[in-house]
Amino acid sequence: MSYDDNNIFAKILRGEIPCNKIYEDDFVLAFHDINPQKKIHALVIPKGKYIDLDDFTLKASSEEMVGLLKGINIVAKKLGISTEVGKGYRALANISDHGGQEVPHLHFHLFGGEKVGKMVE
Ligand code: AMP
Repeated sequence: MSYDDNNIFAKILRGEIPCNKIYEDDFVLAFHDINPQKKIHALVIPKGKYIDLDDFTLKASSEEMVGLLKGINIVAKKLGISTEVGKGYRALANISDHGGQEVPHLHFHLFGGEKVGKMVE
């Protein structure tokens, strides 16, 4: 499967669709999920064109990998849920069909602001 340039997160990255932005740097964009499942529900996406975590792991540079992980921590801190400033959170990436991924651009969900609950329903 090749990367679909028309997926909704690609459109957000190109500025064609608005988002409720939390943070942006050279490697990531973070915004609030449009349909929050918890008090805090943010999405952190890499700026590069990666379909999912496997695609990212196989193709991304070391710099991009570090940038994504650091981005998650920065966003969690900004939202007051990282362990440095808050009570923790869940970072989750759905991968492809069995993982329940709907948008084919790698994204980490950050859930927090309350107890997140069971890991798998
Ligand atoms: P996934 O099922 O892991 O692919 O999750 C996709 C997520 O993207 C869902 O939680 C959606 O609510 C969210 N989403 C879809 N469109 C938008 C949008 N335009 N802005 C923010 N979040 C979105």
